[in-house]
Amino acid sequence: AKENGKNNFQFYNAELHEIINRRVYIESELSKAIEKDQLELYYQPKVDLYTKEITGMEALLRWKHPKLGFISPQEFIPLAEETGNIVAIGEWVLKTACKQNKHWQEKGFDPLCISINVSARQFEHSDFINAVSKALDETGLSPQYLELEITESIIQNVSESKEVLNRLRSIGVKLSIDDFGTGYSSLYVLRELPIDVIKIDKSFIDNLTDSKNLSMIKTIIDLGLNLNLHVLAEGIEHEYQVKKLVEQGCSSGQGYQFSRPVSEKDFEALLLQSSIY
Ligand code: C2E
Ligand code: CA
Ligand code: CA
Ligand code: CA
Repeated sequence: AKENGKNNFQFYNAELHEIINRRVYIESELSKAIEKDQLELYYQPKVDLYTKEITGMEALLRWKHPKLGFISPQEFIPLAEETGNIVAIGEWVLKTACKQNKHWQEKGFDPLCISINVSARQFEHSDFINAVSKALDETGLSPQYLELEITESIIQNVSESKEVLNRLRSIGVKLSIDDFGTGYSSLYVLRELPIDVIKIDKSFIDNLTDSKNLSMIKTIIDLGLNLNLHVLAEGIEHEYQVKKLVEQGCSSGQGYQFSRPVSEKDFEALLLQSSIY
């Protein structure tokens, strides 16, 4: 038994080592990902639930590493936050998304709003507002076609956040609250901050057959509409969800039911077909 215990210890120790090694390796590789051209943006359409037309898109980051393969943003974004690397990555995302959107407009597609995800560390960084203006200036994208998705949880200090958000708004970009309803302060955030869009979190959309959940969604939609906000449901995977949401007055959505996030090339094909769903 003693022998066994020792082996177990070595096993766990080795496993732990592997996790730490992967983490250290990822952190160091991530710092080179931009210059090595390993990052890519994928785009997921936002759809008008009545007409099924594409009304906008969310840019989602993808990292393809030559040895580790595809690494999910759920794994590497938190590590990039820790090392501070998220600031450089975030600027790359901003620039790339604006450039791509401008490019589609120049190609003659109807102008659409592109949204990008902003993480806490990036938002708190003193240079964030400059980075946004710079990306718009350098690419020539008009600010109305850029939306910043922010979660409730990144808003630590409301008065400071309010000032930053007001300045971003004065530039002319749109602001949305991502994963709405999952934080502790949803109502407070809505009351205090200058927001244009609510994105109802997927966890609410997942079980629309549950009556409690459905009343909450209805309340969120009504609240948003009464405050003159745009309300979008995320994570829609089935047609019955579309129907339910439309019944409740929600006119925008996003999810696998319409399309997964796709590459630039595939998104362009979607734009060409629009109203395909
Ligand atoms: P998020 O902003 O809440 O993005 C939605 C996530 O749900 C995306 O995962 C998307 O691919 C996925 N999704 C969309 N529709 C459906 C659906 O119908 N069903 C299911 N099961 N999933 C759906 P992804 O691309 O893996 O991104 C995960 C998270 O990583 C994002 O969550 C966001 O928090 C973060 N992230 C992604 N790109 C960036 C970025 O450029 N910057 C920052 N700071 N964070 C990012
Ligand atoms: Ca998002
Ligand atoms: Ca979300
Ligand atoms: Ca999320």
